[in-house]
Amino acid sequence: QSETKPFQVTNKSQFFSFNHFFALPLHLLNVLTMNLTIDILNNEQISLLDNILKESKNIIICAHKSPDGDALGSCIGFANFIEKTYNKTANIVVPDAFPDFLKWLPDNEKILRYDKRQEYVDKLLQSADAIFCLDFNESSRIEEMQQSLDASPAKKIMIDHHLNPSMETVLTISHPEMSSTSELIFRIVWQMGFFEQQDSHHFAIPIYCGMMTDTGGFTYNSNNPEIYFIICQLLTKHIDKDKIYRNVFNNYSSWAIRLRGYILCQKLNVFEDRHASYFAITKEEMKDYHFIKGDAEGLVNEPLRIKGLKMSISLREDDRKENKVWISIRSIDEVRSDLIASEFFNGGGHEHAAGGKLDCSISEAEEIAKLAISSLNQ
Ligand code: 5GP
Ligand code: MN
Repeated sequence: QSETKPFQVTNKSQFFSFNHFFALPLHLLNVLTMNLTIDILNNEQISLLDNILKESKNIIICAHKSPDGDALGSCIGFANFIEKTYNKTANIVVPDAFPDFLKWLPDNEKILRYDKRQEYVDKLLQSADAIFCLDFNESSRIEEMQQSLDASPAKKIMIDHHLNPSMETVLTISHPEMSSTSELIFRIVWQMGFFEQQDSHHFAIPIYCGMMTDTGGFTYNSNNPEIYFIICQLLTKHIDKDKIYRNVFNNYSSWAIRLRGYILCQKLNVFEDRHASYFAITKEEMKDYHFIKGDAEGLVNEPLRIKGLKMSISLREDDRKENKVWISIRSIDEVRSDLIASEFFNGGGHEHAAGGKLDCSISEAEEIAKLAISSLNQ
């Protein structure tokens, strides 16, 4: 037990009285906490989560296919919270590769890839006591790993921010109003009273990275004042947020920058009357530009910088499989990406950021994109 020191005022000037000195931080504290609700769990959920973490021996954390900054950040932060607070190891598994620009994340080298270690991960899933599903709302989002997850007898816990959660779980913590799953992890750890003991490198950095990437560097989905309280708390752990930004957003290879320039210059189709655009990236183009995972990440946002544009669609051929096209959609204001994704592209997502996939050629996909765009109001 540390001894609390009696409060001492060294400067006795009338402008620096005990009252002033003491009142200011209290006032600031009030401002900081006024109307801010960080807690998201009810008592029942807290004790269920706490019990699962205490009682489970084999814990797995998994995230969706093509894991992004939020998927990885939330998994890494959560795994380290479990390690620090509950003194046990949790394995992180993801279906496939993640972008190069996330390979600086602490502990990324410990993440298991299903496409590389299928047999081993199958065994892990089968013998797990608890599986935490982070940043996805239905098991189809983990593609090849779905069967194995569905077949596992482990307790499943979902922590996610996508609409319409649809998985059988013992606990579903679903908050589509949140910026990111990483934000949810922060809130859970904070509410349980364990934030103090988390460290910068293994908790604050991945959580900040996830919040930053899912909001495009806090440029969308980021109007909730509580986000900035959370960032403030993360900064008290002395993270270098400017460096995290550079690591993620200013980390292209020269080939990737050239590919982006080429697509915007040569491949962008703008439909001014519908305030929308699409571009398609083919296998050949990816080969020509030495494409690696992540090179086209965020490119879909770029056309939205055109004055008046409200929706941007990106079509990308799978670089290995035939007749597989991956779709990303971004929109603003009243234009709903999620509705376009589910109506035209077998997908879904958030109001202003969604995606999907098509089993067809890239030129057929382009026709569908044109149809989707023509469905928008003029
Ligand atoms: P991105 O364009 O970054 O791949 O995806 C944007 C958002 O759309 C993601 O946060 C993800 O939730 C959602 N999304 C992408 N692909 C799919 C899909 O096939 N199905 C559903 N339901 N959501 C998707
Ligand atoms: Mn997310």
